[in-house]
Amino acid sequence: MPLPDLSPAELRGRGMTSQRTRDRMIQRLIEQGVRNREVLDVMAHEPRHLFVDEALAHRAYEDTALPLGFGQTLSQPLTVARMTELVVRESPRRVLELGTGSGYQTLILSRLVTELYSVERIHALHERAALRLKRLKAPARLALADGNHGWPQAAPFDVILLTACAEDLPHELLAQLSEGGVLIAPLADADGTQWLTQLRRVGETIDRRRLEPVRFVPLLQGVIG
Ligand code: SAH
Repeated sequence: MPLPDLSPAELRGRGMTSQRTRDRMIQRLIEQGVRNREVLDVMAHEPRHLFVDEALAHRAYEDTALPLGFGQTLSQPLTVARMTELVVRESPRRVLELGTGSGYQTLILSRLVTELYSVERIHALHERAALRLKRLKAPARLALADGNHGWPQAAPFDVILLTACAEDLPHELLAQLSEGGVLIAPLADADGTQWLTQLRRVGETIDRRRLEPVRFVPLLQGVIG
């Protein structure tokens, strides 16, 4: 059965989910240093309030991470914006996201890159995100799978983005990067501090850059549900 289209009122939001509230989020992102006009434009127009439980919708545009259930969180707007900036400055053709979660980061990326793949390990989150993204006509290919193995059939990728923190250098993923491609990931150091890290494949070597401290849920193993 075809899904009913989202009504203009649902998409637009009202009160704490209105365009005015979204515009305030964008203003804050600019003050926090986000500069990429395309990223800001997409975030200004896309409905973050449809990616959380209805009971939390009024908080969707606050400067905060929000619970998704299953112990997972939707990243705060600043984190989504920063990660998206890092992805789009590569002008990538093919991108793989690991950790679809709510699907919000997937939605934003889908408006900005040519080909997007996204993997989630929790069945219920995968299903919910797939439904939301379908209703918003977001062109992303989704899979329920353990992202530790990447998406070998679709490799190589110009960018692989992890939205969960890996403990070790993910060699299986690095092997799926195109020449000059980057893996952008929160990686934990020996004392447990998480750093947003950029790993670029240059021939047979990996060029590693530590960007800023971040906090993400862990990248786990296996599929649930
Ligand atoms: N980008 C998401 C943030 C989700 S939090 C959003 O915008 O909502 C991180 C997500 O990574 C969670 O949904 C978690 O289930 C998922 N995850 C953790 N380990 C994973 C793995 N090995 N493979 C795929 N997804 C994983």
